[in-house]
Amino acid sequence: MNTTSEGAVADAVSDSVSADSGLRWNNRFATLGPAFFTRLRSTPLPDPYWVGRSERTARELGLDADWFASDEALAAFTGNVVLPGSDPLASVYSGHQFGVWAGQLGDGRAILLGETAAKAETPALELQLKGAGRTPYSRMGDGRAVLRSSIREFLCSEAMHGLGIPTTRALSVTGSDARVRREEIETAAVVARVAPSFVRFGHFEHFAANQKEDELRTLADFVIDSFYPACRTTDRFGGNAYAAFLEAVSERTAALMAQWQAVGFCHGVMNTDNMSILGLTIDYGPFQFLDGFDPQHICNHSDTAGRYAFNQQPNVAYWNLFCLAQALLPLIGDQEVAVAALESYKVVFPREFEARMRAKLGLEGLSEPAEGDRALIEGVLKLLAAEKVDWMIFWRRLSHHVRNGNDKGDGDAEPVRDLFIDRAGFDAWLLSFSERHTGVPRDAAARLMFGTNPKFVLRNHLGQQAIELAQGTSPDAAKDFAGVDRLLKLLETPFEEHPGFDQYAGFPPDWASSIEISCSS
Ligand code: AMP
Ligand code: MG
Repeated sequence: MNTTSEGAVADAVSDSVSADSGLRWNNRFATLGPAFFTRLRSTPLPDPYWVGRSERTARELGLDADWFASDEALAAFTGNVVLPGSDPLASVYSGHQFGVWAGQLGDGRAILLGETAAKAETPALELQLKGAGRTPYSRMGDGRAVLRSSIREFLCSEAMHGLGIPTTRALSVTGSDARVRREEIETAAVVARVAPSFVRFGHFEHFAANQKEDELRTLADFVIDSFYPACRTTDRFGGNAYAAFLEAVSERTAALMAQWQAVGFCHGVMNTDNMSILGLTIDYGPFQFLDGFDPQHICNHSDTAGRYAFNQQPNVAYWNLFCLAQALLPLIGDQEVAVAALESYKVVFPREFEARMRAKLGLEGLSEPAEGDRALIEGVLKLLAAEKVDWMIFWRRLSHHVRNGNDKGDGDAEPVRDLFIDRAGFDAWLLSFSERHTGVPRDAAARLMFGTNPKFVLRNHLGQQAIELAQGTSPDAAKDFAGVDRLLKLLETPFEEHPGFDQYAGFPPDWASSIEISCSS
């Protein structure tokens, strides 16, 4: 354990808070039994402060708004007090890391508070504190998370949701001046994150690898009954619910990969323990939204071989699903059936990816898929890759071009055209694009494109600027969390124009390419 200044407050943990948070606890995961987790308390941090709060997530949880602004909430979401009705625990899982079996891992620094719903009609959500202290699964780690990576996870969770991409959510990030040792000394932070379930592929791999078939079945039954109930009445695979489950997870994962590829999101650490069984984006570490379109881009400085390069993600997801299939094999009972259940990935990913790209092009839902659509998509990807054209700016400018229409003469394509050195290549593509749009209502196409091609994404340099403000850049500078809040507001509605904030939608500065993000967090 290498945190240095948290011991002094260890005695200060009180058993409960007094005011009503508005949360109603249920905690179904905790009923699975001791093979799945260890009950424990978080380790408090001294003098916590708010770094960021998501009112939107708070509303979805049904949190009382006044209580969420209180010191009691600050203490609770830092892990310094226990919320009445919660049942804190750390779960055990295993996994493949960088293609190699890593054995037992588990929640080494995340503590599940439990499951809560504000009202009977609101969906139940789990609340987890990441960075809240050591657990039996911490191995050599200190159980902590540093401020910079916590701000990135907080903002990106809400940014992905704003983009309409399935993700774990973030309620808050709180900080403390407690020191945490990484490459250098940093300070601690805790992200309160929210999801219907934090179960990963690695949870299943854990029980399969340890030949614990009863527990494997208990877990699968829990996840199926809670989140995939249609598998119980499937007529596929001779009514095999576990095969139907694998197929459903494959389909959700395929749809997620299509969304990542279309928005230009690189996850960076697609280990099987970072794969959500619900097809959510989970565990934001060295992720990156592409600046220039480079299909081979590696966003994780620790990934020297490029296993998780941007264009590898769809294949890696399939590889990870194969690991899940192997883990579920004792339940499915027939290898051929398990392999058949994975097949859907190969159908759903290309179908979904094409649909996403057709939406970016202003066609999906407005014009029947046509023979030449694939060539149109491949053509633009090739052009963009050849010159590493800025992914987000290209699509947003193309959206403006479609809204303005061609009737103003050639000039109106200029902002898009300016992005290319190979003008002839771009003009040829634009001509086929314009021809393809013949008969497609322009207003509807523009609306679709502006709702599909975001103006704001969490580029590395934007996160970095907010982080440096929050850290207090010079030794005497006060910590300033306004940058986190400003980004949160923009990223919550990334398709809107937000007049006055164009500097957040521009090209990255030169120094952005030198930002190195590794697994260290
Ligand atoms: P990650 O690469 O962040 O997905 O983490 C992989 C594993 O290492 C998980 O079991 C984490 O809980 C654990 N881990 C990562 N960082 C820490 C830390 N600082 N303290 C304890 N466990 C950690
Ligand atoms: Mg992880």
